[in-house]
Amino acid sequence: MKRIWLRVLLAMCILGIFLCITLTINTLAFTSMQIDVTPRPQPEIDTDRAVTSLQKALRFRTLSYEEPEAWDYEPFLELHEMLERRFPLVHEHLEKELVSGYSLMYTWAGSAPDEEALLLLAHQDVVDAPDAATWEHPPFSGVVADGFIWGRGTLDDKGSMIGILEAVEILLENGFQPRRSIYLCFGHDEEVGGWDGAATMAEILRDRGVRAKMSLDEGMAVIDGAVLGLDNPIAFISLTEKGYLSLELTAHGPPGHASTPPRETTLGILSRAVTRLEENPMPASLPEPVRLMFRYLGPEMPFPANVVFANLWLTKPLVMRQLASERATDAAIRTTTAVTIMEGGVKDNVLPAEARAVVNFRPKPGETIEQVIERVRQTINDDRITIRPLRQPTEAPPPARVDVPAFEVLHETIRQVFPDAIVAPAMMLGGSDTHHYSEVAENRYGFLPLDFTEDDLERIHGPNERISVESFDRMIRFYIMFIEAVAG
Ligand SMILES: [Zn+2]
Repeated sequence: MKRIWLRVLLAMCILGIFLCITLTINTLAFTSMQIDVTPRPQPEIDTDRAVTSLQKALRFRTLSYEEPEAWDYEPFLELHEMLERRFPLVHEHLEKELVSGYSLMYTWAGSAPDEEALLLLAHQDVVDAPDAATWEHPPFSGVVADGFIWGRGTLDDKGSMIGILEAVEILLENGFQPRRSIYLCFGHDEEVGGWDGAATMAEILRDRGVRAKMSLDEGMAVIDGAVLGLDNPIAFISLTEKGYLSLELTAHGPPGHASTPPRETTLGILSRAVTRLEENPMPASLPEPVRLMFRYLGPEMPFPANVVFANLWLTKPLVMRQLASERATDAAIRTTTAVTIMEGGVKDNVLPAEARAVVNFRPKPGETIEQVIERVRQTINDDRITIRPLRQPTEAPPPARVDVPAFEVLHETIRQVFPDAIVAPAMMLGGSDTHHYSEVAENRYGFLPLDFTEDDLERIHGPNERISVESFDRMIRFYIMFIEAVAG
């Protein structure tokens, strides 16, 4: 007996040593993914001129709405006129097209038109600011105060649109001629899905046979204090975004008087279906962009976090459990389920013949709309409920790649303009116009060259949206250096 125990102990010791060696070897091989860059001279910017252009752009109430009758297109036309006045060289050298009436598409023809193009994307429309009274400065005034430009759209996304235009204007002043063609596409309905603007611009480009090396759109940014254990800001580059699907569930039953009710009412049937969906969340897995995020961030992290990420073969269950424990990170590993509307019944003593719920899903990359609907059907497992998609669903597009020159150029430029930042791939949990361009641009990246704090994230679509003059200046420098690097 004693001999058996000795053998078990010996086997455990050997296993322990083997495990330690494996963990150490993996951690040593888990080297930094950050590119070392040699500093490039930073371009000269006329900051006052750029700030004035942004201030003017912010004053137009370019609001987008779900309901077609709610739109006021006049501010869009006024914005276009203002852009023509403020960016004369852009309008002299680039070809401007109005798409679907209000979206702006500019073509900057390259000297080598056979080379794959570059797409720079942004949007003109903004969400409303119904809480104007709580703002420190009125949301559509474009006030400059305390080193910030204030207003709806500074971060999302007029800052980027004006930043791109200012960069192109400066490049033209300096006599820059791009080698590959550059398209600037500024949609007018991004906040309501981009089905009129971006979708049509993408269709036009596709029909013209335009192939882009990459597209760059809003998405993620340089975020300070985003990861525990890392002092450096992190430049997250979104490789893809989640899909979008709203399903309407309807329960049907015979109408009648509440004095003689059936065992199950339409409301009871519907409630059970909804409860089943909430009790059975969609399965979790590690999407490729999230795995890559760990690959880029892990080596920069202190012990023992680096060992954990270097050895996902062993630690993955632990990491997954941790990710699932918080709402924001849980949304990164599964198709989310959110019950947003439930209605049925109008009178306290009448049984409704119909009750309806709407559930919003955000499919993760790799999971199709069809698969999600099938899973919902199986989970509810009740044919008294009809299920149908509301609005136009969107598939999660396949992630952009990181092992291509396009990503490398983006990575390098970020490190040149934000020298302290650690670059990491990521996945956006919300949506943007980017997915519309999947047939034109093989690699679509979502990165706003802006420094963000946690506090800024709440300003997007919230009160007191603002951008610091310093950040805006840096953003323009980024676009200039990026265009030079991609198309110079
Ligand atoms: Zn946006």
